[in-house]
Amino acid sequence: MISVKGYAAQTATSALAPFSFERRELGPKDILIDIEYCGICHSDIHQARNEWGGSIFPMVPGHEIVGRVSQIGSQVSQFKMGDAAGVGCLVDSCRTCPSCKDDEEQYCEGGMVGTYNSFEKDRKTPTFGGYSNKIVVDEDYALKISSKLGLEKIAPLLCAGITTYSPLRTWKAGKGDRVGVVGLGGLGHMAVKLAAAMGAEVTVLSHSPKKEQDAKRLGASHFICTENKDISTLFSNHFDLIVDTVSAPHDLNMYLKTVKKDGTMVLLGVPPESTQISAFPLILKRRRLAGSLIGGIKETQEMLDFCAEKNIGSEVEVISAKDINIAYERTMKGDVRYRFVIDCKTF
Ligand code: NAP
Ligand code: ZN
Ligand code: ZN
Repeated sequence: MISVKGYAAQTATSALAPFSFERRELGPKDILIDIEYCGICHSDIHQARNEWGGSIFPMVPGHEIVGRVSQIGSQVSQFKMGDAAGVGCLVDSCRTCPSCKDDEEQYCEGGMVGTYNSFEKDRKTPTFGGYSNKIVVDEDYALKISSKLGLEKIAPLLCAGITTYSPLRTWKAGKGDRVGVVGLGGLGHMAVKLAAAMGAEVTVLSHSPKKEQDAKRLGASHFICTENKDISTLFSNHFDLIVDTVSAPHDLNMYLKTVKKDGTMVLLGVPPESTQISAFPLILKRRRLAGSLIGGIKETQEMLDFCAEKNIGSEVEVISAKDINIAYERTMKGDVRYRFVIDCKTF
């Protein structure tokens, strides 16, 4: 077995603390990655705090992982020693169901194997994530990283990047489209950069007035502060597509009313509590309300290549392992510009 150092939450209420554990020896198709950076996604916090229910403890969160390959199995063909490699939110799936065959392993009918807070396909061995210094992964579930940007700026693409790229591609955001991004956090700031790079006219809808300058710098054409404001009176039938990245309960009906006839609002954020939806804003303009979960391995690679070509990375604040709990507190208060990334050499 391979000895690993990381940080874990032992319960939903305990602070994350140093944790030593073991990873499997490499199988023929496995690679070992010495992790250099791992982003802190708000999903890590929801799960470490058991806000969605069903959390598995001890939990080593982290699914925005980048590092260098330091060992390869006997049949590995896509990676060599020293390559930069990434791991996102899933590390395995059934490989045979229609979703897996369509390169959409995130919707695997047998259930994908999450990078953490999940079990391997044996349904017994818990998975541990990227708040650690090493990970073993099947090469078919690892991503190739090629970019002039620093690895710390690439790490958040493995979740925040693909989660926003996938719906923008699914609903074909492009030139001439008006895209609204609700919430300017880790996901939201990537949505702005990606939608702008695809040629869309981007409007940020944020409850934080202080983020206006950042929104414009990141590529938004417009910024609307939504604090104590009914924005449906400002925009009627305006957006082709809205991507909603908010992590807390909020009024979806107000945003729906700003979508054009036949337009779509996609939920990406997963607030722990549900929200009431009125049928009227949907039926009156044949609007659609949809959801989207991360992205498959093939699309994640496509997104990484798109970002490398366009020089797109995340805006990050790099922290040491000992500051993870502070970073959690700051993320929950909305005090993050725009992703905390752990320097995994500090474990
Ligand atoms: P984050 O960095 O904390 O950003 C969330 C943003 O939501 C904040 O920056 C804030 O933006 C807005 N917000 C927070 N509290 C709010 C409130 N009370 N009222 C209105 N707006 C509020 O989080 P993240 O990492 O981007 O993740 C966002 C959500 O997406 C989380 O729920 C996460 O679990 C989920 N997620 C889903 C997927 C998926 O596959 N669908 C993947 C990853 C993450 P403003 O200050 O600009 O308003
Ligand atoms: Zn995530
Ligand atoms: Zn499957």
